[in-house]
Amino acid sequence: MAVKAIRERSWVEIDLDAFRANLKALKAFIGKDGGFIQIVKADAYGHGAREIARIALSEGAVALGVANPEEGKLLRIQGFKEPILILSPSLPSEIPDILASDLWPTLSDPAFARELDQACSERGIKAKVSLKLDSGMHRSGALADEFGKLWKAVKKLPRLEVQSVFSHFAASESDPGFSQAQEEEFLAILKKNKVEAPWLHLANSSALVNGLGKSLPLCRLGILSYGIYTHPGQKDKIALKPVMTFKSTVSQLKEIPAGASVGYNRSWKAARDTLYAVIPVGYADGYDFLLSNRGTVSLNGSLCSVIGRVSMDMLCVDITDAGKVEIGDEVVLLGVEALRAEDLAAVYGGSAYELLCQVGRRAKRYYYEGRRLVTSAPLSRREFVSSDYPDSKLSQIIQAAISQRVNSEEMGELISREILRVFFYNKDREILYRKDFRHHIRFSDSGDSRFWRAKTTLSFTKTLQNGFFTVACANSEAALKSYFKRRDVEYRWLMDTNFELSPEAFSLSSVRINGIELETKLHFRNTCMEIRCSHPALKELVGSEVFYEIDTLTLYPRSSHQLSVFITELTHGVKISFSYPEALPPVECVPVFAGQNKYPRVSAGKNTITVSTKAGEWVFPQSGVVFAY
Ligand SMILES: *Cc1c(COP(=O)(O)O)cnc(C)c1O
Repeated sequence: MAVKAIRERSWVEIDLDAFRANLKALKAFIGKDGGFIQIVKADAYGHGAREIARIALSEGAVALGVANPEEGKLLRIQGFKEPILILSPSLPSEIPDILASDLWPTLSDPAFARELDQACSERGIKAKVSLKLDSGMHRSGALADEFGKLWKAVKKLPRLEVQSVFSHFAASESDPGFSQAQEEEFLAILKKNKVEAPWLHLANSSALVNGLGKSLPLCRLGILSYGIYTHPGQKDKIALKPVMTFKSTVSQLKEIPAGASVGYNRSWKAARDTLYAVIPVGYADGYDFLLSNRGTVSLNGSLCSVIGRVSMDMLCVDITDAGKVEIGDEVVLLGVEALRAEDLAAVYGGSAYELLCQVGRRAKRYYYEGRRLVTSAPLSRREFVSSDYPDSKLSQIIQAAISQRVNSEEMGELISREILRVFFYNKDREILYRKDFRHHIRFSDSGDSRFWRAKTTLSFTKTLQNGFFTVACANSEAALKSYFKRRDVEYRWLMDTNFELSPEAFSLSSVRINGIELETKLHFRNTCMEIRCSHPALKELVGSEVFYEIDTLTLYPRSSHQLSVFITELTHGVKISFSYPEALPPVECVPVFAGQNKYPRVSAGKNTITVSTKAGEWVFPQSGVVFAY
């Protein structure tokens, strides 16, 4: 599935097609009349809750299941409107967040229920809740005797609506007898207390495949949907494909003689002259320490043993028999058929659930759908929740800048939170920004007394989103406006209204990415000219930072007495200059900058005027410069 060659210290690939296929296979067990709740707790078992939730809902999930209010709140911020169940018991201190984000808490005890009801009454709202019966797992939930009291107590609370009632199997993958007894207990308790709720559910994913929980209309899907078997017997019943692959890159090759040892405490000694590779992944990346001397990785198709202890940031693998290995080669640590999480976890007596959650702590996540890279998640994995981002430097900078500008820290916090929200979720997962934005415009004689010949050169660094981008030219502001929303448009030019749009009036003289001259294709669309710039080699560069250069030639009416350059994206370092012919009267320039520095440097040379910020300074969209003459 390696659509593009990623060479990072470690990264995680999420195969959304595999996830969808797993869901379809599980849905065959559910049948037409049943439904499912997709469990996305712990960031969807380390797969990324947002993308997983998106696919699951498109496959018919009626709700999402999380472990705590924070996870639910994040999904709300990301725009999910569907019911979200908090599966674990909540704390009283979490009630405000639960209500603010419209999450369904799970109640196991009447005292919490009363507190929740009280909080609802103070806010003048109602809350939907789940009740949980402990049918034998003996973890959370109300025991059979207590459940009757809980049900009656909650029914009396006017602000609470019991939407769902559930229980949980203790050993659905391995103990059919006990599980059957749990199911019977659950049904008996429902009947005894005359429990009525829209949603009743019991089975987790292993239970579903084992034919358990069929007496209830809904089930809750977790681990199997991520392509992990929890019992060897399941392989004959259902075909599942691992969704997550954890990868790294060979960073060093070494050779040691027989008798030498590798790693801390010298736990591995070479029985023969040994060639080995250093992989820049350790237990801090989620590669379990217990895989020391026991794990296996896949390198160019060969399985290689982990030798010595897994360190915090590195591990070593024996490549003596692996054929040709080079620095920079891709290493698969987990997720292919030969390295299933459940098998790797079994090597050290661990849990596949845990391994999935811990793997890739320092890794960026790449999501693939239809064999294409559709999106990626940031390195740190700390998804944005308003109270949870001050450690991000970028956020601090933005917030400080806004606070300064509006002269209020409180307002600054509010506005920057809103801005970040838009950047992170309504637009991008990552903040996309331009670095070292340089724009130079030179006017010269066009040979036509009505126009200047304007030559512009634009360059900046930015992460490439697609194998193409668009340059747009319009002759009305309204038409141009539509291009501000389009993310594939990297350059826009407003033509004089008298102009008939044509390549004579506006053309791209050269467009390059990392020095590669792009192919351009002109389209006319409504009243606009769109030039699509692409090159087959760009595919390899998607997701990485590239250097854009865009040169244009255009005619500019002499009758106009101003020229504007707009900054439409978050930008890190700006330099805009305008060179004009001797004949032009004195040029003045008015920068309108929002960001860290409202007053960029303006310097006037001979027939050139330049506006610039320091390289590291942030400039916000809706900034710009007007040159007037
Ligand atoms: C995590 C969880 C599930 C999902 O279980 P899997 O074994 O991953 O399918 C279902 N129900 C509850 C209450 C859970 O906490």
